[in-house]
Amino acid sequence: MSASAPTPQAPITQDVLTLPRKLAEGGPRNLVGLTRPELAEALRAAGTPEKQVKMRTNQVWAWIYERGVRDFADMTNLAKPYRALLAEHFTVSVPEVVSRHVSSDGTRKYLVRIAGGHEVEVVYIPEEDRGTLCVSSQVGCTLTCSFCHTGTQKLVRNLTAGEIVGQIMVARDDLGEWPEPGRNPKNETRLLSNIVLMGMGEPLYNFEAVRDAMKIAMDPEGISLSRRRITLSTSGVVPEIARTAEEIGCMLAVSFHATTDETRDKLVPINKRWNIAELLDALRAYPKASNSERITFEYVMLKGVNDSDEDARRLIKLIEGIPAKINLIPFNEWPGAPYERSSNNRIRAFADIIYKAGYASPIRTPRGEDIMAACGQLKSATERARKSRAQIAAETGLG
Ligand code: SAH
Ligand code: SF4
Repeated sequence: MSASAPTPQAPITQDVLTLPRKLAEGGPRNLVGLTRPELAEALRAAGTPEKQVKMRTNQVWAWIYERGVRDFADMTNLAKPYRALLAEHFTVSVPEVVSRHVSSDGTRKYLVRIAGGHEVEVVYIPEEDRGTLCVSSQVGCTLTCSFCHTGTQKLVRNLTAGEIVGQIMVARDDLGEWPEPGRNPKNETRLLSNIVLMGMGEPLYNFEAVRDAMKIAMDPEGISLSRRRITLSTSGVVPEIARTAEEIGCMLAVSFHATTDETRDKLVPINKRWNIAELLDALRAYPKASNSERITFEYVMLKGVNDSDEDARRLIKLIEGIPAKINLIPFNEWPGAPYERSSNNRIRAFADIIYKAGYASPIRTPRGEDIMAACGQLKSATERARKSRAQIAAETGLG
C-alpha cells in the first residue's frame, strides 16, 4: 500500500487543493453513495445486460471503494466499450477539498465543498492505536445546543449518502490509503481505522443517508470498516435510537451533558421534546447495549454549569443498569461562546467519582484546537451569519 504516516507538522499549514470538479448538476449520475442494489439498478438502466449485472456491480463497487479509482478508464478489467458506456452515464465524484489545515498535533481538518456550494468540515485525528475520522452528516444543524458552534450556523441541509461516504474517500485520498488489491490492512494498522459521526449535524435527523453511507463503509468488498469502529453520536433523537442498532449496527454515543432536565433543556434543547427519563428509557431498551458494546455518554464540562460533585453522583444514579462509559469532554471554546471550560482539577474530581462507581471515565483530549477542529468548534467559514450570544441566550433561556 502507498500509505504514508501522517507527519505531525509544526505550526498550522494551509494549502488549497484544486481537485477537478466533476459533478455537473443535472449531468451524469454520481455512483458514489449508491447502495449495492441501487448501483445494480443504475447499471441495468444504463444498458448492462441482465446476466452481467451482478458481476459488473461487484467489479465497479470494488474499483470505487476498494481501490479508490475515480476514472472509468482505469477500471481495467472491464471491456473498453463498457468503460465508455459507464463514462457516458455516470461519474465517480467525491466532495471537493477546498482547504486543508494540519494542526501542530497532527490533526487534519478538511473543508469540503458539496453540491450547491455548501461546505462542511471533516477532521482526521491520528492517535497511537488508531486514526479516527470525524464525519459530518449535515450542513449546520437544526438543533441549537447552546455550547456548540455548529448550532449557531443558520443554513442547514442534509448531506446525501454520497457526500457522507465521500468524506471518508477524500480522507483516504489525502492519507494515500487505497491499498493494493487483496492487501487491505487490518483495522488496527490502518491510518483511517475508525469513524465517528461527530462532525457537523445531527445524524439521526438524516438517518437514511447516514445508514447507507455507513453500510458502504462497512462493506467487506470495499472500505471494510468494522461496525465496532464506527460510532454515531446523537443529541437524543429518541424515536430513531433503536433503529441505529437495528439498521446500522454501529456503536452509539449520546450527548448527555446534564443531570437535570432544567439544565439539559438549556444545554441540549431537544431535551424539551424528549427529556432525560425518555432518553434513558430508550437507552435501557437499546438492542445492542452490552458490556462489550457499551453506550458512550458524552458529557461536556462547563464551568459552574454541570460540573459539580453532585452532578457526578446524579449521573451515576441516572445511568444505573445501562452498560455505559462516560466520556468527559473539556469544553472547547469558540468566538462568542457563552461558557467556560471547567478547570482540570474539577474535571479530574468529577471523573474520579464516576470511576469509583465502576464506570470508565476517560477525559477526551482536545485535538486540533489551534485550527478550530476540536469537538463543537466546527462551522464552515463561509457561514458568517452567526447568531449573537444574546440570541442564543434568548433561545435557550440562559442568561
Ligand atoms: N449532533 C451530534 C453529533 C455532533 S457533536 C451530537 O450532538 O451528539 C459531537 C459531540 O461534541 C457532542 O457530544 C457534542 O455535544 C459535543 N460538543 C459540541 N460542542 C462542543 C464544544 N464546544 N466543546 C466540547 N464538546 C462539544
Ligand atoms: Fe447539533 Fe450536536 Fe451541535 Fe447540538 S451538539 S447543535 S445536536 S451538532
